[in-house]
Amino acid sequence: MKVLRKKKLPERTVERLSQYRRSLLRCWEGGKTHIFSHEIANLHHITAVQVRRDLMLIGYSGTLRKGYDVKELIELIGNILDSPQGQKVAIIGVGNLGKALMQYFSGKRTKLSIVAGFDIHPEKVNSEYVDIPCYHVDQLQDIVRKENIEIGIITTPAKVSDQIAEHLVDAGIKGILNYTPKSLNVPSDVYLEEYDMITSLEKVAFFVKESK
Ligand code: NAD
Repeated sequence: MKVLRKKKLPERTVERLSQYRRSLLRCWEGGKTHIFSHEIANLHHITAVQVRRDLMLIGYSGTLRKGYDVKELIELIGNILDSPQGQKVAIIGVGNLGKALMQYFSGKRTKLSIVAGFDIHPEKVNSEYVDIPCYHVDQLQDIVRKENIEIGIITTPAKVSDQIAEHLVDAGIKGILNYTPKSLNVPSDVYLEEYDMITSLEKVAFFVKESK
């Protein structure tokens, strides 16, 4: 397996690699050992050129006759996306969304594990959800440092998200996924991703409206 890399990958390529890996895993589980770029492209509604470009960026090329080796490609993408020792994640705000994420992730990703939840509600603090301990948010910095947590997911009410982000940054967190509707400001060495379901739904609604 050939790995040429170290140039920074574009964000969209990183997103697509994660998506390719999930569909490659399904192919592998279904008994498929080789796959062509146009097949991957069809699964993701993109062009084969785009797939080849992404895989060239990680130094991978298939054979013309058989296409890409599925298992090899899954491993290579894993080498690129995953940290070998794994990365720990905390969820701040163990409400409806926080719990749904804990449940969804539970046991799914070996290299990414949600190891702690934080909340202020007395019924949640010092409890467990899907075997993940929930601490009081006042313990955030201690636990993040002690457990070496690198990533924080914010699922609190928006009015406290700035303050939570500040605590996370102070504790040494290097990546934040913000689900609250309020946009955050973080230092440039902290990677911030913000996800808003309403934007996605409004986008779908717009294109439905336009297609009438
Ligand atoms: P929720 O009320 O069920 O959960 C919020 C939790 O945060 C509660 O458990 C509450 O006790 C806790 N909390 C409040 N203040 C806190 C603090 N200072 N520190 C730690 N925890 C605190 O709400 P929800 O439905 O889970 O939504 C959570 C957030 O996610 C909201 O901001 C909501 O707008 C947002 N949301 C985003 C999306 C999306 O697609 N991005 C979808 C749904 C909800």
